[in-house]
Amino acid sequence: MSDPFVVVGADAAGLSAASKFRREAPDRDVVVFEMGRWISYAYCGMPYFIEGRVERMSNLLSLSPSEVDERGIDLRRGHKVVGVDPDAETVAVETTEGDSFEQPYDDLLVATGGRASTGSFDVRGVDGAFTLHNMDAAAAIDAYIAEPDAYDHERADVSAVDRERVERNAAMPAPETAAIVGGGYVGVEMAEALSGRGLDVHLFHRSGHLLSDFGEAVGERVETELDAKGVTVHTNAPVVELVGDDRIEAVVIEGEDPIEADLAVVGVGIRPNTELLDGTGAELGEGGAIRTDEYGRTSLPDVYAAGDCATAIHAVTGEEAWMPLGLTANRAGRAIGATVAGDPSPVGEIAGTAVVKAFDMEAGRVGLVGDEAARDAGFDPVRETVTAGSRSGYYPGAAPTDVTLVADRDTGRLIGGSIVGPDRAAIRIDTLATALEADMTVPEVERLDLAYAPPFSPVWDPILVAAKVLNGTLDGQ
Ligand SMILES: Cc1cc2nc3c(=O)[nH]c(=O)nc-3n(C[C@H](O)[C@H](O)[C@H](O)COP(=O)(O)OP(=O)(O)OC[C@H]3O[C@@H](n4cnc5c(N)ncnc54)[C@H](O)[C@@H]3O)c2cc1C
Repeated sequence: MSDPFVVVGADAAGLSAASKFRREAPDRDVVVFEMGRWISYAYCGMPYFIEGRVERMSNLLSLSPSEVDERGIDLRRGHKVVGVDPDAETVAVETTEGDSFEQPYDDLLVATGGRASTGSFDVRGVDGAFTLHNMDAAAAIDAYIAEPDAYDHERADVSAVDRERVERNAAMPAPETAAIVGGGYVGVEMAEALSGRGLDVHLFHRSGHLLSDFGEAVGERVETELDAKGVTVHTNAPVVELVGDDRIEAVVIEGEDPIEADLAVVGVGIRPNTELLDGTGAELGEGGAIRTDEYGRTSLPDVYAAGDCATAIHAVTGEEAWMPLGLTANRAGRAIGATVAGDPSPVGEIAGTAVVKAFDMEAGRVGLVGDEAARDAGFDPVRETVTAGSRSGYYPGAAPTDVTLVADRDTGRLIGGSIVGPDRAAIRIDTLATALEADMTVPEVERLDLAYAPPFSPVWDPILVAAKVLNGTLDGQ
C-alpha cells in the first residue's frame, strides 16, 4: 500500500488538487491538513459581505467538511504542518489539541496561501484595527461596524467562525470614520463596502495614483469615481502610524496632523506562507514564494506548491512571477491533482489578469502595464490610451471607456493593457488576456473579429480603436 498524496491547506489550491486527484485516482488516498477551522471559502467575497451585498457568511463557502468527506478526501482540520522531511518523505503535524505526529507521503502539495502583510503597523490588540485576510476578520469587521443593538447575529452563520471575537466586536460602539491604508484592489473594494455601510471613508495610498498596477488612466478615473461617491482619497500619502492604545483613534500621514478614525483596515499586501519548508533547502523565488516549474514542482523531489505561496511563469516575459490571485490557485491545484494521479498537466502561465469595481466604475488590467516592468523584462514599451464608446452612441447606456494598450516597439507585440469605464468595461480585459496568451501583435489585435451590435459594442470595439491608434504610432516611428 503506497503512502497518500498529502495536501497542506484546504482552500482554493489545496482542495482543487485533492478533488481532481480523487476523481482521477479513486483507489488512492489523499489527506488534506488544514490548520484552521475554515475550508473552501471565498476571500474574494469578503468586501461584499461586509458591504451587506452578501447576506450571510455561509454564502461565501463552497464545500462543507461533509461534502469534502463525501468526495473521499481525508480532511483534517485543526492540523498544522510545521515541517517537512524531504529525505524521509514525511511531514510533521501538530494539532490544536496538542498532539503531534509524522505523516508519510508519496507526493506532497504545499498550498498554504499567504498572510496579510502589515508593514510597520501592529494591529494586534487594537480594537477597530484590522487586516482583511481571513474569514474571522471579515466577520469581526462586519460586527464592529454595526450598532450594538442592531447587529444581526445570523450574519456570521458558520460554526467555524470565532464567535467570541464576533460578539466582542458587535458589542462595541459603532464607528463613524474609517481609514483604509493601501489603495490596491482590496483597499478600493473596502472603500466602497464601508461607504455602503454609512461610514465616512478615507483611503490612503502611498504613491500618486490608486491601483498602481493598473496604470495611471485607471487610477485617475477610479479616484474621480470614489471622490464623487464621498470617499476622501489621499494619494502620495504614506501612513506612518496608527494611533490608539486599546481602540484605534487616528492615522498619521508623514508630516501631517493625525486624521481621526475609529476603524482602520490595513491592506498593504500579502506575504507567502513558506515557513513549513524552512530548513529543507527548497528554493524560493519572486516575492519569497516557493519556486515552481511548469508542472508546479518545487526543487524538492515529489513536492509541489500552488496558489498564493508559489511562483508561476509569466505569460509575457516567460520569467518567474508571483501574482497571488484566485484562478491561479484553483487552476494550478487542479493541474497538480491530475499530474500526481498520473496525467501530467501544466499549471498554466499567468498574465496578472485582474479586475476591480469601485461603485459604478469598473477596471481591468493584464500583462505589463507600467513602463518600468516592461523595461525590466527587456521590452521597449510604447503605449496609447484612447477613450471610446462602450456601445453604439445612440443606444442607451453607452459610456466612455478608456483603453490603454502597451506594445513592444521593435516587434509590435502586445505586452499589456488596461481598461476602465462604467459600462461592462472590466470583462473586456479578457479579450486582451487572450491576445497576450496568443503572443499577438498589435496589427493582429486590430484585425480581430470582435462582436458588434448596438446594445453591446460600437462597430469598432474600444479595444479595436485602441489597437488602431497604437498601430498608427508604431507605423509612424
Ligand atoms: C479581501 C480579498 C479579496 C480578494 N479578491 C480577489 C479577487 O477578486 N480575484 C482574485 O483572483 N483573487 C482575489 N483574492 C485572492 C484570492 O483569494 C487568493 O488568491 C486565493 O484565496 C489563494 O488560494 P490559496 O489556496 O493559494 O490560499 P488560501 O486561500 O490562503 O488558503 C491557504 C490555506 O492553507 C492553510 N494553511 C496555511 N499554512 C498551513 C500549515 N502550515 N498547515 C496547515 N494549513 C495551513 C490556511 O489556513 C488556509 O486555509 C482576494 C483576497 C483577499 C484577501
